[in-house]
Amino acid sequence: TTAARVVDAVKVYGTGDTGVRALDGVSVDFPVGRFTAIMGPSGSGKSTLMHCAAGLDTLTSGAAHVGDTDLSTLDDRRLTLLRRDRVGFVFQAFNLVPTLTVAENIRLPLDLAGAEGDPEWIAALIDVVGLRDRLHHRPSELSGGQQQRVAVARAFAGQPDVVFADEPTGNLDSRSGEEVLGLLGRAVRQTSRTVVMVTHDPMAAAHADEVVFLADGRLVDRMTAPTADKVL
Ligand code: ADP
Ligand code: ADP
Repeated sequence: TTAARVVDAVKVYGTGDTGVRALDGVSVDFPVGRFTAIMGPSGSGKSTLMHCAAGLDTLTSGAAHVGDTDLSTLDDRRLTLLRRDRVGFVFQAFNLVPTLTVAENIRLPLDLAGAEGDPEWIAALIDVVGLRDRLHHRPSELSGGQQQRVAVARAFAGQPDVVFADEPTGNLDSRSGEEVLGLLGRAVRQTSRTVVMVTHDPMAAAHADEVVFLADGRLVDRMTAPTADKVL
């Protein structure tokens, strides 16, 4: 089964002669329980692919699915609900709410959904990300690595179908980055979650089960069991 997929995805920004074909017929599956990295040069369409697969943006043609749901069948309200309830996000800039505590940030997607969540899952998540003694701190009192670990916990809090991570180590030193990547990898391997990560860092991609490579809006290569030297 696939957690998410795009089929013949085309995305054109703008129109006519000035239109940019950011995706030019990309088909890719993100199977349940797999950690996939998307790599490629700057401007190759990585962010566009992630945004369209996650329902943050719409395709010009082709299809994007989360689970069995064809995103093109959803109106804006349902698309917002799908992003809230079935997709998790981790961003380069952490994007935590500064006025909320760590515990409140982690619970935010659940609280927005009016959902209880699974208390055992949340407790295990807090332990795995190593934030048990930071629960009442605000983001400004944490290091970047700690903030990103909060963001990882938040992304998984509602047990989403798929977590999308956009350059999650881009603002971190290599040690904190390795910690965050380790958490993403463990979520996939120990709890069968699904992660799709955009990165241009071969060290980050080496944590994935599979790497797909984009160039000029096309999928040009894929590699299973990547290592940093093979990805370079
Ligand atoms: P990557 O993430 O690999 O750097 P992007 O998906 O951001 O690539 O961009 C792919 C192409 O689409 C680039 O040529 C970029 O300039 C263009 N692009 C991205 N977003 C927009 C936008 N909002 N409007 C116009 N062009 C865009
Ligand atoms: P609404 O349509 O209610 O304003 P949003 O477009 O903000 O909802 O998106 C809902 C969910 O998607 C939120 O959980 C948010 O984290 C995520 N999201 C959407 N777009 C972005 C973005 N550009 N940056 C960060 N999170 C986003």
